[in-house]
Amino acid sequence: MIGSAVGSADTGPTAGCGGCQTGAVMRILIVEDEELIARSLHDGLTADGYAVDRAATGDVGFWMASEHPYDAIVLDVLLPGMNGFVVCQKLREAGVTTPILMLTAKGGEYDQAEGLDTGADDYLTKPFSFIVLGARLRALIRRGPTQRLAVLEHGSLRLDPSRRSCEREGQSIELTPREFALLQYLLHHAGRPVSKRDLIESVWGDDDLGENVLQVYIGYLRRKIDEPFGTDTIETVRGIGYRIALVRPV
Ligand code: CA
Repeated sequence: MIGSAVGSADTGPTAGCGGCQTGAVMRILIVEDEELIARSLHDGLTADGYAVDRAATGDVGFWMASEHPYDAIVLDVLLPGMNGFVVCQKLREAGVTTPILMLTAKGGEYDQAEGLDTGADDYLTKPFSFIVLGARLRALIRRGPTQRLAVLEHGSLRLDPSRRSCEREGQSIELTPREFALLQYLLHHAGRPVSKRDLIESVWGDDDLGENVLQVYIGYLRRKIDEPFGTDTIETVRGIGYRIALVRPV
C-alpha cells in the first residue's frame, strides 16, 4: 500500500501502460509533499510508461497545471501552501479541465464530497494500492476532459454530475456522495454487467472491502431511485454483479 508507513512492494511494472494504446506518451502531474509517496508514485507511473512531473506544494502544483498540458493530475489534499481543494477549485475556475484524482486521508478532516464539489473527478483514500491508482488513472484518462460533465439519462432517471443532482420524473432525489458515485459508475456502463469487484474498487477505492457493503448500498439506491417509482433500474446479475439494462424503445 502507498501512503502507509512502508513503501511500495506493489509498485512494479504491472498491467498498465500509460501511453502505448494511442502511441502518444501520457503526461501525469503528481502534487504531493510526502517524499516517499511522491517518489513511489513517480517510479511506478514511470514504469507504466507515463511521463511524470512532480510538485511538492499546492502553489507550484497550481502553476505547473496551469502552464503545461497534462493528461491527468494526482493531487494530495494536505499540502504546504494552498491545499488540494483550493488548487482544484482554482484550476477549474481558470478553465483547466484536466482530470484530477484526489488523495484524501482516511478519517481526515476533509470528506471526499468536498473534493468532488471543488471539481475533482475521482478520489482515493490513503493508504491505497498502486494497482488501484493505476486503474483509476487509466479510467480517468480514457474518459477525458470533455465527457466529464455529461448528464447521464436512463428512462425517466437523470443524473447530472456537474450539479451533483439526481431526479426521476422531475422529482429531486437526495443521494449521498457514495450512492451518487455508485449510480454514476453503473450508468456509465449501462447495458453491460459490472462486477462487484469493479464497483468496489472504483467507488470505494478499497479492494479489501467486503461485498456485503456494496449490497447494502445497492439496496439504498433501489429504495431511492426505483421503489417509489415502481421501476427496476438496477438488475442483479447472478455470480457477477449488477447491470443497468438498456432502455427499450416504446
Ligand atoms: Ca500531504
